[in-house]
Amino acid sequence: PQISAPGRSHFSTAVEPSSSKSNPPRVPNLIGGRFVDSKSSTVIDVINPATQEVVSQVPLSTDEEFKAAVSAAKKAYPLWRNTPITTRQRVMLKFQELIRRDMDKLALNVTTEQGKTLKDAQGDVFRGLEVVEHACGMATLQMGEYVSNVSHGIDTYSIREPLGVCAGICPFNFPAMIPLWMFPVAVTCGNTFVLKPSEKDPGASVMLAELALEAGLPEGVLNIVHGTHDIVNSICDDDDIKAISFVGSNVAGMHIYSRAAAKGKRVQSNMGAKNHAIVLPDANVDATLNALVAAGFGAAGQRCMALSTVVFVGDAKSWKAKLVERAKALKVNAGTEPDTDLGPVISKQAKERIHRLVKSGVESGAKLLLDGRNIVVPGYESGNFIGPTILSDVTTNMECYKEEIFGPVLLFMEADSLEEAISIINSNKYGNGASIFTTSGVAARKFQTEIEAGQVGINVPIPVPLPFFSFTGNKASFAGDLNFYGKAGVNFYTQIKTITQQWKDSTDGSKINMAMPT
Ligand code: NAD
Repeated sequence: PQISAPGRSHFSTAVEPSSSKSNPPRVPNLIGGRFVDSKSSTVIDVINPATQEVVSQVPLSTDEEFKAAVSAAKKAYPLWRNTPITTRQRVMLKFQELIRRDMDKLALNVTTEQGKTLKDAQGDVFRGLEVVEHACGMATLQMGEYVSNVSHGIDTYSIREPLGVCAGICPFNFPAMIPLWMFPVAVTCGNTFVLKPSEKDPGASVMLAELALEAGLPEGVLNIVHGTHDIVNSICDDDDIKAISFVGSNVAGMHIYSRAAAKGKRVQSNMGAKNHAIVLPDANVDATLNALVAAGFGAAGQRCMALSTVVFVGDAKSWKAKLVERAKALKVNAGTEPDTDLGPVISKQAKERIHRLVKSGVESGAKLLLDGRNIVVPGYESGNFIGPTILSDVTTNMECYKEEIFGPVLLFMEADSLEEAISIINSNKYGNGASIFTTSGVAARKFQTEIEAGQVGINVPIPVPLPFFSFTGNKASFAGDLNFYGKAGVNFYTQIKTITQQWKDSTDGSKINMAMPT
């Protein structure tokens, strides 16, 4: 394989020339501190969704390369876990500084490979950066517990130790934030890591890894192998990998959860969503409509916390026309163009699937209030664009309601009461997030108590929690019991050791005691 100089992949951004001779550049793996070109002859094109240009090619790494990555992580583990926590934190302090330095480059890469607007791409990087900042305080987060004198002269304490080699499997929709939900927390706890980025937009992961090495992360602590199902299955089966963080669809997530659990691994699996907003007639009209438009169509609806269904209660249904007008005014264009509100969806296949779900909605009786399917963006005629689309009179038996659409499509439903609206949401199989818009504290509190969703918003559309809380999920949106980041994230990447110690004066006379100590 071609081996580049340690620490720099020279695969920096889509716009910089690549040191690997090929054009388009091949995305390198990172194994044992070196960016290495995969030997695999099978590659997948990484395609700019606004232009269809091939940005790079991502290899389906070989089994040998996967094993080399795990073995590098295993080799790096003993030294890294014994590296002082203060040193590990300092690497994160430097890492967050470097992410800030390269924010624009990272965002441009995200826009080029994923399609979202540059401003939104900055947000993608920034929300991940906040997790890195949080990891800088790991010593406090990882503190154990101590009870003195549990019996005469005996103390018990517990410490949180790293697990060993952990792995992360990423989706396409947040190419910077989601890798940063995973490895900074894992490695600052003392683990080493194997990351499998999304094959659709792997560039940001590689750039972040370069920065982590520049920040001083020792070789082998973070490794990257590219690929799809085969690598994922190898991650699930490998005895040296102790824990897996997954974010993506339910099909992949439940497969990984069960296959890895069969091998005794711990798994945190964040999966699909169908996030509802309830609108009560007493809500602030302008603020509510603006929030719904932003959360329904931002990032072309490809956020796990996108609001994809609005349930209007009672007279609030009269606001529909205003919402349609505001959605119509949004600008659809390439993410690199100024003033773009929403960019393209990730792939031609995604576009076709979204079209199919809209069509099936119409065929089963929904009313198409706004149709963005035939949009043409001048200068970007071959982009995967879909304009804001709104289906009204949607019912729970429709395919467009049951399936996650993951596109710029908002569904309108109606309910006669708050109770009915809550019951619609609770009957949905997903439980990622739900919001209510109201000026009634009583209604908001009832909603907060009764709703079955991980993230709950009250007059807030996308409540993605900051890293001192955890990203949670209910029902089919999450499998596992320790969520991403926050306290739960630290608990996920550590195991508890409980120590009981006794220090007795050697002059103490002791007798054999055969009974259970009490
Ligand atoms: P995806 O499941 O297609 O891919 C995610 C990862 O799993 C990729 O790395 C892919 O290579 C791998 N993969 C895909 N299918 C697989 C299979 N059958 N076996 C083994 N590995 C497989 O997801 P995506 O399309 O990249 O991302 C969109 C999905 O992610 C949506 O469902 C969205 O709701 C979800 N998501 C959830 C959250 C959350 O926090 N709950 C956050 C972001 C995205």
